[in-house]
Amino acid sequence: MLPGEEEKRERKTTARDVLRFARHYWAPKKTLGVMAALTMLLSVAMDAILPVYTGRIVDALTGHAAADAGALHAAWAAFFGFAALAALHQILRIISMFYWNAFAVHNLYMIVTDSMRKVQRFSADWHANTFAGGTVRKITRGMWAFDMFEDTLLMGILPAATIMTGVAIMLMIKLPLVGIAAMTLIFLYCLMTVWMSISILSPRFRASAEEDTRMGATLADAITGNPTVKSFGAEKREEGIFGNVAASWRDIAYNAWQFGITADAVRSLFRVAMVGSAVALTILLWKEGKATPGDVVLVITTFFIIGGYLRDIGMHISHLQRSASDMDDIVSFWLREDDVSDAKNAKPIVVGQASNIDIIAFERVGFRYPNTGKDIYRDLSVKIRRGEKLALVGPSGGGKSTFVKLLQRLYNVSEGVIHIDGQDISQVTLESLRQAVSLVPQDPILFHRTLADNIAYGRPDASREAIIDAAKKAYAHDFIMTLPKGYDTLVGERGVKLSGGERQRVAIARAILADSPILIMDEATSSLDSVSEHYIQKALETLMTGKTTITIAHRLSTIQKADRILVFDQGRIVEEGSHKSLMENPHSHYKKLYDMQVLGLVETAEDIVILEGKRA
Ligand code: ADP
Repeated sequence: MLPGEEEKRERKTTARDVLRFARHYWAPKKTLGVMAALTMLLSVAMDAILPVYTGRIVDALTGHAAADAGALHAAWAAFFGFAALAALHQILRIISMFYWNAFAVHNLYMIVTDSMRKVQRFSADWHANTFAGGTVRKITRGMWAFDMFEDTLLMGILPAATIMTGVAIMLMIKLPLVGIAAMTLIFLYCLMTVWMSISILSPRFRASAEEDTRMGATLADAITGNPTVKSFGAEKREEGIFGNVAASWRDIAYNAWQFGITADAVRSLFRVAMVGSAVALTILLWKEGKATPGDVVLVITTFFIIGGYLRDIGMHISHLQRSASDMDDIVSFWLREDDVSDAKNAKPIVVGQASNIDIIAFERVGFRYPNTGKDIYRDLSVKIRRGEKLALVGPSGGGKSTFVKLLQRLYNVSEGVIHIDGQDISQVTLESLRQAVSLVPQDPILFHRTLADNIAYGRPDASREAIIDAAKKAYAHDFIMTLPKGYDTLVGERGVKLSGGERQRVAIARAILADSPILIMDEATSSLDSVSEHYIQKALETLMTGKTTITIAHRLSTIQKADRILVFDQGRIVEEGSHKSLMENPHSHYKKLYDMQVLGLVETAEDIVILEGKRA
């Protein structure tokens, strides 16, 4: 990847991006949206004409005696007009809301499911560099921000703009002078509101939202890492770290809120001045015989009605601003094109049918992690035979994990190609590739679901018998049967209710059931009790039968049984061969290191090579 590409993928979103995002989600159900907007506009139009009828009622009654049948008739006619408009206004509004709810809820559903789908597929690198808690908040906040965004635009700003225009036209016709004054004042008011929102409020609320995300992520980090926090008795330290982040949020949010209130006060005073001047102007016109008492009522009612819309304009602008900035992340997720995705004509991988002797071939592979210029591999070529048991050893940072990550295509190679059974892994579907390559990780993560679900994760349609059979082979059946609900026992979040050894065995059962032809095992470095250790070794032997296996080895027992050992150091394979052949070479590093371990000088294979590295 070229430098700068990462920024391109995660750039700040622009207003145009937000609109494109909105259009994308509005399109599928646009008829509902259009119906909601139309009925809302009709309802608002009823509201705009309403003052004409209040004015007519007053004019019909002013200067006439109570017995004047003509006056009374005119007043009733105006009253029924008024009542009909008011009722229509409400009925149309409700109809509009029915349409709107159907439209909005569907959009939110699409956004949240699409975001989940996208984020799940983001590269391992993205996930490694992103707080899970932060992402969860970004998605839910983005979804609700979109709700506010469309609500504001279509149910707030659109009706407000319509009523302002309607009222201005109506006043221009009835009282041109007041109409001109009102239009000028409304225009100035809107200008001031938009300026305040964009220049004063928005940067402050954006900063507050950023701190809010940081606060959520810090909290999630501390809570996810709770076992570590506990083991170091570091609660106070974590509280200190979180306290600082929370205090920063408090200060920034307080500042934003105070400015929000001040801006609101300025707008309210402006509105009072606006109503005052329009009414005063009409009274002056009345004095000159250019306006009736009904006109005064018309102006007061008009401003009474548009007062609400005007007051809300400030709120709409700030909602629009805030929702657009809260949507930043979800829109950038939507825009982001991930580098690890299916090629255009990707086909499912087929393993076991080709006549290749080598099931895996790294051919002149070069690799750099995105965002780092450092070469991890240069010109690395490795061939692995079908059914071979391979062990990777070497110092920490030597490139063992990267090797298996590339094989799973968690990252794309920078140069060269990786073949599995003769097929370039960048040209097969990711789903099929990951099904062909099973991983038993160092510290398996279990889902907060039943044990049966956890075991069947790689083969969700597996029967209960198959699940139990796999558990038996993984020496997990006996301990599962001692649990209160057996296979239906819910595993605590992240599997903490089970011991490390038990989780390992569930993970092995999962891999046995998945039955992938290629198996990657990252041995647990933490020492398990010897009973667990014994069972796990036996379970692994069952699991490995008939498969091609690559073990990131930390223990010598695994290394001895391997058909071939690759010794990694700084992205290069410095030695390779079986335990026997490496031991037969009196000059091999491996032999020296092995001897040292047998003497008990070091504990794990990694330590051996590290020591050797230091000596060399
Ligand atoms: P090992 O498994 O042998 O300990 P790794 O394959 O994890 O070694 O690491 C090889 C090198 O790649 C190290 O220098 C490490 O710092 C670097 N590295 C590993 N993961 C990442 C990552 N996600 N981003 C950038 N560099 C990484």
